[in-house]
Amino acid sequence: MEEYEIAIIGGGPAGIMAAIAASQNSSSVVLLEKNSSLGRKFLLTGGGRCNITNQKPIKKLLNIYPQKNFLKHSFFTFTNEMLLSLFQDKGLNFIEEDEGRIFPMSEKSSDVLDILTDYLDDVVITYNFEVSSITDDFIINDKIKADKIILATGGITYPQTGCNIKNYSLTSQPLTDIKYGLVPLITKEDLSDIAGITLYDVVISYKKSKVKGNVLFSHVGLTGPGIINLSNEISQGLDYNLLENDPDFDIEIAIDLCPDFTREDLKEKFTNDFQLKGKTMLKNYLKLFLTNNFIDFFLAQSDLDGEIQLSKINKKSKNRLIENLKRFAFEITDFNRDLSKVTIGGVDLDNINPKTMESTLIPNLYFAGEVLDLHGPTGGYNLKIAFSTGYLAGLSASEK
Ligand SMILES: Cc1cc2nc3c(=O)[nH]c(=O)nc-3n(C[C@H](O)[C@H](O)[C@H](O)COP(=O)(O)OP(=O)(O)OC[C@H]3O[C@@H](n4cnc5c(N)ncnc54)[C@H](O)[C@@H]3O)c2cc1C
Repeated sequence: MEEYEIAIIGGGPAGIMAAIAASQNSSSVVLLEKNSSLGRKFLLTGGGRCNITNQKPIKKLLNIYPQKNFLKHSFFTFTNEMLLSLFQDKGLNFIEEDEGRIFPMSEKSSDVLDILTDYLDDVVITYNFEVSSITDDFIINDKIKADKIILATGGITYPQTGCNIKNYSLTSQPLTDIKYGLVPLITKEDLSDIAGITLYDVVISYKKSKVKGNVLFSHVGLTGPGIINLSNEISQGLDYNLLENDPDFDIEIAIDLCPDFTREDLKEKFTNDFQLKGKTMLKNYLKLFLTNNFIDFFLAQSDLDGEIQLSKINKKSKNRLIENLKRFAFEITDFNRDLSKVTIGGVDLDNINPKTMESTLIPNLYFAGEVLDLHGPTGGYNLKIAFSTGYLAGLSASEK
């Protein structure tokens, strides 16, 4: 039996960062990874460009997360400056894009992963090692014994990268409901004619939640940053737990296609314009409000004739036009599950010490990254969780 002070399970960003931090204080660290290489999901991040973190000031950054109180200590322990300097010290610099999103200048997640791996010189890495059992006295797969274990096995998304829902039962740690997060939506409406079209800066609403952002139509439904971020609210609002059952869908979302106008503004504008531009066809007039290649779809869904002249539109049609511009609804039939980017839910934070990432129920067992009930929106917020909680877990496990 091989013996180590610290065994880290899972070689994604959380596990790698835990290993880097732990190996600063301990010379007996093993990183166990199921795949033949580290960071398979990490390589896909940011479309291969790796949106590594978000540069908002730390307090604003924390406010983005539903679990900000839990994350506070880890974010202050391992700051963005500390994260980025690991790479800058080895010659990789970063650029900031819109809304504080940080990317490596080389635009390659593989460059980030290569540098992370460079820091693992003092860590034993065992590949093709899928952990399937951990005994009460920390014997892993009957082969490895550790004094401390850090579990960083990730969530449920993109299972081809190594995640597996079975990992949640590796320990007896209580869990919250496991759900899809940051996930495109499948619609009942056939969108194949408008696939590829983007609506910019629209307001999307689901029940009382509203998100402003872009919506991209795909062949099967809706995606784009606005939809992806709203999907977290939708998923959390549905009563399901993937460990037990699938979600049931009976939901509608609506898009405000003209968020800069109120219904009253539109009514007044239409009353004037329909007189002044009476001979203009409706489909041409709508170019003032809608992207060109979306207009035919909008008119068909609204049961309106695009060839009609503005002066001939009756009151009922005018009201329907206003209503559909302000509240263009889609029926959602499912999540596009294979494209979910994060897991909502996981190891219950109530039983984890946020100052150390150690379980309060099982001494010497630590957790880091997406396996925990932690998630954020798109924009570098999820890798931030992985790196900060990973670092804190590695540091605490090696300091004790
Ligand atoms: C397509 C895509 C793009 C994304 N882009 C971004 C982005 O740009 N910015 C951002 O902030 N977030 C992004 N995310 C989210 C981000 O990738 C995750 O939040 C992050 O990878 C979680 O890190 P982790 O280390 O906790 O888990 P993971 O990255 O999932 O790593 C877990 C590791 O554990 C290994 N493992 C699992 N089970 C076992 C086992 N039983 N035994 C041994 N090893 C095991 C896996 O093989 C894997 O290597 C993206 C996600 C996806 C799917």
